[in-house]
Amino acid sequence: MKANYQNDGLLIVVSGPSGVGKGTVCAALREKKTDLTYSVSATTRQPREGEEHGVNYFFETETSFKKMIQNEELIEWAQYVGNYYGTPRRFVEDTLRSGKDVLLEIDVQGAQQVKQRFSNGIFIFLLPPSIDDLRERIVGRGSETEASIHNRLGAATDEFKHVQYYDYVVINDRVEAACERIDAIITAEHCKKDRIVMMNG
Ligand code: 5GP
Repeated sequence: MKANYQNDGLLIVVSGPSGVGKGTVCAALREKKTDLTYSVSATTRQPREGEEHGVNYFFETETSFKKMIQNEELIEWAQYVGNYYGTPRRFVEDTLRSGKDVLLEIDVQGAQQVKQRFSNGIFIFLLPPSIDDLRERIVGRGSETEASIHNRLGAATDEFKHVQYYDYVVINDRVEAACERIDAIITAEHCKKDRIVMMNG
């Protein structure tokens, strides 16, 4: 018998507290793994310097975001320190169907909603080496107000409690090392026997 194997696209969810370096790690991962498709989220927060519509986020008004929720255009959505964030449905579903892996970089509330709908997803929690390190990163980013720093650190404390819902924990001690671990996780997940569909032909 000649066997062909089909491996569906994986939905990879990377979460972790604000300031842990999700953006940097995910950017490094995308550079390393060019076959990985990044899902651009919608948000109502203001763009930071250098951020572009359609590249970093789809920057929406609160009215347009709420319309997306009503029309069920989002797989998940959450409010995070006063702004809305959500994952556009059509793009993720079409990309997975075409057999490509999709990367979501979202908060813990969103990840929990995704887990209910995509039980086959891979859920990875990124941790900072320490809380002090996290504080330094948020302050060092220089783009947040005092209030936003305070709120983000408060949110981070809550976010740590969600680690139990994840399949993997990766400590972001060094970007390349964290990136390599995530790459290894993705490779191993693709080799799981339950994910491989054998086809005759
Ligand atoms: P930031 O404002 O720093 O870009 O993002 C704030 C938080 O929102 C981060 O934890 C980020 O991962 C999360 N986030 C970004 N996009 C989404 C999304 O589409 N859905 C959810 N639930 N969270 C998101």
